[in-house]
Amino acid sequence: MDKFSTTMKQIACPVCGNDEFEQLFSKQNEIFSCCNVCTFILINPPPKLEAITATYDEDYSQMYIRKADKKLKRCSGWVARVQKRFITSGRWLDVGCSAGFVVRAAADRGFEAHGVEVESAAIHYGREALQLENLRCGFLEEQGYPDSYFDVISLYDVIEHVPNLNRLIAEVGRILNPRGVVEIRTPNVDHWLTPRDLSTWKEVKPSEHLYYFSFTTLKTLLENHGFKFRYKRFMLKSALNVYFEKPTTPTK
Ligand SMILES: [Zn+2]
Repeated sequence: MDKFSTTMKQIACPVCGNDEFEQLFSKQNEIFSCCNVCTFILINPPPKLEAITATYDEDYSQMYIRKADKKLKRCSGWVARVQKRFITSGRWLDVGCSAGFVVRAAADRGFEAHGVEVESAAIHYGREALQLENLRCGFLEEQGYPDSYFDVISLYDVIEHVPNLNRLIAEVGRILNPRGVVEIRTPNVDHWLTPRDLSTWKEVKPSEHLYYFSFTTLKTLLENHGFKFRYKRFMLKSALNVYFEKPTTPTK
C-alpha cells in the first residue's frame, strides 16, 4: 500500500525487473523508493516527462563563458585518462554533452569527437564558441547513429537524469564498437560521504535525479545489456566513475 499519494503509475525496477518497493521518503511530492530485490533507489512513480525536461534548462551565456578555460582543462584530463588506460584514438561520443567541453577536449586530443544534448542553448554555445560541428540536439535514441560507430561513449552526470534508462543503455550498446569503452559518472548512493538519511543528501533532487546508483546496481544494469566491467576509479567525493567494455561477442 502507498504511504504517499501520487497520480503516476509505479514502474518495475529498471535494474532487476522486480515490482515491489519500499517507500523511503517523499520530497516535493515525489516518492523515493528502494527495490526490495536489488536495492536500487529511484523516484517511483517516475515524474512526468515535462517535469524532467524542465530541469534541463541552464544559462550558458554567462556561467559557461566565465568558466570555459577551466572546464576545458578538466575535460582534457578525463579524455587523457581514457587514452592512458583504454583507447587512444577513434570516434568519441559524449552523451549529454552540454556545451561540448568534453567534445572539444576529445577532438583536441585526436579523436573524431561527437556530442548529443537536449538543451539547444548549450549546443548553440558549443557550435559558436567552441567551434564544434558534430553536436546534435535531442535525446540519444532519436539520433540514429550507425551500429558499432563509436569507440568511446561517455556519460558524465547524465544517467541519473534520463527518462528511460534501459532504452538509453541499449542504444549505447548498439552504437558502440565491440571492444569499445563506455565511461559512466553518476552520484554514488553507497559512498561514505553519502548521508545515511538519504533525504538530506544534496544529490536528492526531485524530477531531476531520477536514479541513485551504487556500484552494484550500476554494474548489474550494464551487465544486463551485455557489457563487461573494466575499471572503477577511487573517488573522494560521493560519485561513481566506472568503465565498461562491450565484448566482441555479445554475452546474451
Ligand atoms: Zn531491483
